[in-house]
Amino acid sequence: MTASADIGAEIIVHLARLAQSGGDHRLTTAQWSALRFFARANRLSRTPSAFSAFHATTRGTASQTVKSLVELGLLERHRSESDGRSVRYDLTEAGREALADDPLRALSERLEQLPENERGQLLGALQTIAGDLAVIRESNAFGTCADCAHCDSGADRSSFCRCAAETLRVCDMEALCVEFRPRNAQGDPQEHAH
Ligand code: SF4
Repeated sequence: MTASADIGAEIIVHLARLAQSGGDHRLTTAQWSALRFFARANRLSRTPSAFSAFHATTRGTASQTVKSLVELGLLERHRSESDGRSVRYDLTEAGREALADDPLRALSERLEQLPENERGQLLGALQTIAGDLAVIRESNAFGTCADCAHCDSGADRSSFCRCAAETLRVCDMEALCVEFRPRNAQGDPQEHAH
């Protein structure tokens, strides 16, 4: 292991703590993380179990965090339109307003100031590392449709998800997905489709 790799790992952890430390203290770090997640995740992923995988925590802890946000009026529970049994959680209007004070915005603004190519390279490298670590930890990688091995793009520019077996809506294409599978992952994604 080179010294620069160790320093890079320390900087990433330090940056994550620093970015979450300032700003609005009405919510805990876990509650902010959940609020952000449910704002950015697609329909397949707006569940406590997907949030537990994203936040690298237990399902029980994730459920408690989600419950606390429901009690605060920032999240609301809905039955799935497709099967009526599963539930998903969506932000309320108050939840969307609360995100305006997200402490992570300071970090987003610094990233926005980077030249576009530098920002793209940095995001690409971080996504690759996150995907590799997810494999090592046997966790979900999380990502969006454009980089997903389950995504088929047609000549008419429509896209189809082989995992969910449905045509993708434009609004879902940039949302975080618990079923995301990196294109360079080992094996045939169709073997894992469900
Ligand atoms: S294509 Fe991939 S990222 Fe998009 S909805 Fe399907 S599984 Fe999720």
